[in-house]
Amino acid sequence: MHEMSICESIINVIEQQAVAQSFSKVKRVRLEIGPLAGVELEALRFSFDVVCKGGLAEGAALEVIELPIDAWCMMCAEKTVVKQRFDPCPTCGSYQVQITGGDELRIKEMEVD
Ligand SMILES: [Zn+2]
Repeated sequence: MHEMSICESIINVIEQQAVAQSFSKVKRVRLEIGPLAGVELEALRFSFDVVCKGGLAEGAALEVIELPIDAWCMMCAEKTVVKQRFDPCPTCGSYQVQITGGDELRIKEMEVD
């Protein structure tokens, strides 16, 4: 499962941070995920619990902040935000929209002990 390896890399980052900032327990992890990251949130939560078991993030709450999809409208020549791929520009209705973001997946913050 794709989500399992995502969670493993999240845990790797957490463990590196734990050494660098000397904490031993993670209570909450807040992730920012773009709709185009191709992540199934249910699977991600499940994998997170599995991967955290026995480690310093065992039992940590996983919070997900869903990011908008950043885009560039060629007609408006302005940045915009769309709800999904192939949506028209919300300002002018043009389909000349280039997706510039929305595939992010990063740890925004952690609550630690
Ligand atoms: Zn536009």
